[in-house]
Amino acid sequence: MKSIYPPEDFVEKANVKDPAIYSKAKENWIDYWESFAKELHWFEPWEKFFDDSKAPYYRFFVNGKINASYNCVDRHLKEKRNKAAIIWEGEKGENRVLTYFDLYREVGKLSNALRNLGVKKGDKVGIYMPNLPEAVISMLAAARIGATHVFIFAGFSPKSAAFRMKDSGVKLLITADGYYRRGNLINLKEKADEALEEYKGVENVVVVRRAGNEIDMKEGRDHDYAELVRKEKAKSECEITDANDPLFIIYTSGSVAEPKGIIHSTGGYLVHVYATSKIVLDLKDEDVLFCTADLGWITGHSYSVYGPLSLGATVLLYEGAPDYPDICRTFELIEKYGVTVFYTVPTLVRMLQGCGNIDSFDLSTLRLIGSVGEPLEAENWLWLYEEVGKKKCPVVDTWWQTETGGIVIAPIPALTPMKPGSVSKPLPGIEVDIYDSGGKKAKPYQLGHLVIKKMFPGFMLGIHGDPKAYVQLYWSKFGKRVYLTGDYAYYDEDGYIWISGRADDVINISGHRVSLVEIEKVVKELREVADCAAIGVPDRIKGTAIALFVVAEKSDDLAEKIKKKIEEDIGRIALPRLIVFVKELPKTAGKVFKRAIADAVIKKEISGIASNVEVVKKIAEKIDKNA
Ligand code: ATP
Ligand code: MG
Repeated sequence: MKSIYPPEDFVEKANVKDPAIYSKAKENWIDYWESFAKELHWFEPWEKFFDDSKAPYYRFFVNGKINASYNCVDRHLKEKRNKAAIIWEGEKGENRVLTYFDLYREVGKLSNALRNLGVKKGDKVGIYMPNLPEAVISMLAAARIGATHVFIFAGFSPKSAAFRMKDSGVKLLITADGYYRRGNLINLKEKADEALEEYKGVENVVVVRRAGNEIDMKEGRDHDYAELVRKEKAKSECEITDANDPLFIIYTSGSVAEPKGIIHSTGGYLVHVYATSKIVLDLKDEDVLFCTADLGWITGHSYSVYGPLSLGATVLLYEGAPDYPDICRTFELIEKYGVTVFYTVPTLVRMLQGCGNIDSFDLSTLRLIGSVGEPLEAENWLWLYEEVGKKKCPVVDTWWQTETGGIVIAPIPALTPMKPGSVSKPLPGIEVDIYDSGGKKAKPYQLGHLVIKKMFPGFMLGIHGDPKAYVQLYWSKFGKRVYLTGDYAYYDEDGYIWISGRADDVINISGHRVSLVEIEKVVKELREVADCAAIGVPDRIKGTAIALFVVAEKSDDLAEKIKKKIEEDIGRIALPRLIVFVKELPKTAGKVFKRAIADAVIKKEISGIASNVEVVKKIAEKIDKNA
């Protein structure tokens, strides 16, 4: 595939345009990262940039004192007091704007209220909320007083929420009465109450009145958010937190494996998301960033909150479903708010392709488009580049994980020639590689394990409550100095990295290794197929067989066509035992929720996220019919 060069207009104004950034970071790794750190506010400077004496636990900015809330709010008050920090839109089109001063006032008040409710440094504060300004305020209020926030995606069932609260030891919960999703009112407080029946460790619940629905308030435990903060002063001293105090715990998507509670630091994490917002998302003062992720996932934490706000940028926060009232909603939002930087996931990109006449929307404010979460196919990349960005926006495919805190592999938009379908090269100051199973560097086009060889500030502190899993999952294959990402990838002849999917997405059929992602990729190439997911199911003869779930109108012709395509493009070995046509696939964090499908098919259990339950049930019913 030939390279596409960054558009000239973009390059001229870009934050980073000197290619020497790569060599400088290599020559002086410490200076590179420290130069970003020095742009933030520290109460006390760090004594040592990097400590690897307790590998595989790595620490950055040792003994530095910093507060994330101060850096995202107070630091901007002098010059950006009246600048929009958050522009919020609800599903029904209602909107609110919070300036940096508004944010300062609201964060200060809530943090004082939390203190009065007995929350202390190191305590865990749960946040079970949709994308509301109050969710961001809650994160920053917790950070302000040195508490660790644990965000629980609002779509999670009470059971999933209870698991996360219990696992992390949440002491106080901030939630909302309800919210709207595809026009339906979701009673979130009821779900929270149910979760709190299961986990009894929460002493106080703060309830944001969002939808005005009727809810039960438990005397002595539940507090009305507005009433609580009304009595408080805006001024609130920031706790002097250590660079390595945990800022938050967040659970991985759990799309394939069990969710893990990943702990992130305050200093290193903030430096990493600040730096990457600047060099990859190229954020500047006049930008409006629209990151479509839910706040409940790491992408929301890093690129709707801590990255852009530490830079003093403006963030668009959308609360509702991206396909409501129709699949063009995202384009409407871009037009309405003059979004300049659009960061999204491949699933949404594929959905938007069905939107019809894009040119009926004014998307001319866009200047950069980014993607994360799943491989962005070349065809989708080109569509974004040509149709959405009209060849004037670089499209950056960014690879990273909950564990890495921020972007790890991505083009620097003004510097790196882009190859559609590739995530390009690691960012400066980060070293990755692709290894074969014996730990040798893979040759071009040889599929191998994507590993990280040089740590960086955003890297996790550990897995909450499970040091064994931390070592076993990430550091047992190649030792304590080489981090195993769990993804497979290969180099091309120019050293560009192509992600081929998760290692646990490669299954063994009669002794052959077959990539499920590869199968999905070729099936998605068929015009009639909107989306699909392949999973491995136990098979008496072959060990494992493939079940394929296809979002398309059912037809025998199409099933035959799919088989033919798989046979031609991959081989007979990859032919599915079962093809099931479905209306929808369950999703988590914008990704297909394969574990929920597998549970329904293999264990006959309906698991996962509340918002997905109906979708999963329908799949289970279809399976029963097919069995
Ligand atoms: P779990 O680990 O619980 O199964 P998860 O890995 O889906 O959940 P995340 O940390 O949100 O949770 O996702 C990180 C993973 O997403 C990566 O390991 C990779 O598989 C995939 N990913 C992220 N960005 C990209 C990208 N640009 N291209 C391809 N895959 C990506
Ligand atoms: Mg993972």
